[in-house]
Amino acid sequence: MQKQTEEIIKVDSVSKKYDEKYALKKVSVSVNRGETVALIGPNGAGKTTFIESILNLKVPEEGSIHVFDIDILKNKKQHLSRVGAHLQEVRLFPKVSPRDFLNFFMQLFDKTADIDEIISSLELTEFMDKKIGELSGGMRQRVSLALAMINDPELVLLDEPTVGLDPIARQDFWRLIQRLQEKGKTILFTTHYMEEATTLASKVIMVHQGEVVFNGPPSIVISKAEEIEGTLDQAYTHYVNAANGQ
Ligand code: ATP
Repeated sequence: MQKQTEEIIKVDSVSKKYDEKYALKKVSVSVNRGETVALIGPNGAGKTTFIESILNLKVPEEGSIHVFDIDILKNKKQHLSRVGAHLQEVRLFPKVSPRDFLNFFMQLFDKTADIDEIISSLELTEFMDKKIGELSGGMRQRVSLALAMINDPELVLLDEPTVGLDPIARQDFWRLIQRLQEKGKTILFTTHYMEEATTLASKVIMVHQGEVVFNGPPSIVISKAEEIEGTLDQAYTHYVNAANGQ
């Protein structure tokens, strides 16, 4: 018997405005269980607003959002224990160690992941007893990624997870994503790196000025690059220009 696809995120005609400007405009997308989705688009396209809306940190004026089939605009918290999130510019507690910090948050959840596995996969072991405030930006980024995994989430939301990471840390991150994929997790991440999007993701969603301008498998973006005899970045520019009517 064929396994039914399960929609983990279903966003229907969602619009969010700041003052009079749309950050999201009639966005309708869905993410199925086990998919890894890369959300890409220029600065200010609406990616962070999208992720924050899934977490109920931003509330759209129009549309509906279901996560695990829960209407999260009506039931704001029920889905959160099953979600892990890494957001941009998160301030971690500077005076405590990553060990104490992660242990503290582990106590808050009924279900937790294998923290030792996460720490070693993010190469954090030797930094676990230093103060977070004394770690480099990239190391703090890894602590934040570890925090996103701590409740063994079914859905992982990562806003620019590899910004500021050195090439080795980036490869560690890629391996972490692959391990999460093997465990059947559903992942939605934003990135400005086209190679990251097309290599890690099973689906690419491109937004521009709050609207979805591309939603499909990475192979189509790769084919577009080949067709225009350009790079992945040039294929991305092609979609943005097409959305601008150029
Ligand atoms: P980046 O790639 O630069 O992180 P993004 O795609 O994540 O950008 P958002 O941060 O979602 O984009 O912003 C979408 C739009 O909403 C932008 O025009 C931004 O200026 C605006 N915006 C975001 N947050 C606010 C806010 N709190 N108040 C007013 N405008 C906002």
